Amino acid sequence: MALTQLSIKDTILELTDDGPRLIGMRCKDCDNHVFPYQEGCNRCTGTNVEKIRLGTKGKLWAWTVQGFPPKAPPYLGEASPEKFQPYGVGYVEIDGQLKVEARLTESDPEKLQVGMPMELTTVVLCEEDDRDLVTYAFEPCA
Ligand SMILES: [Zn+2]
Repeated sequence: MALTQLSIKDTILELTDDGPRLIGMRCKDCDNHVFPYQEGCNRCTGTNVEKIRLGTKGKLWAWTVQGFPPKAPPYLGEASPEKFQPYGVGYVEIDGQLKVEARLTESDPEKLQVGMPMELTTVVLCEEDDRDLVTYAFEPCA
């Protein structure tokens, strides 16, 4: 299975030897964190910012289950209502940094709970040119 990067203007996701990492911004003046990376701070309006790899662990802050195919485009996954598989979506609060909206690997409401520990991973979104296109997601910690 080949892996590739999902890129919106700039890299938002790195696939490293130690696993996936989200690329965000940290303000050197006020310690604000933003995802995805941007060149200015939305808290203090300063530009003394750096590109960082965000943490990979956090807690589920809010969640829901996407039960029907989103409008395509921009949705790249299976858009046929007969083949579509519901998936979880949520906000994960990365320890000491920020909340990130992401797919969840779990879509069973009985297995999702606010506050549960989550870890960054990737999921295959679709196939493109015989390669798997992946995006970031969070999975419940074992
Ligand atoms: Zn700032």
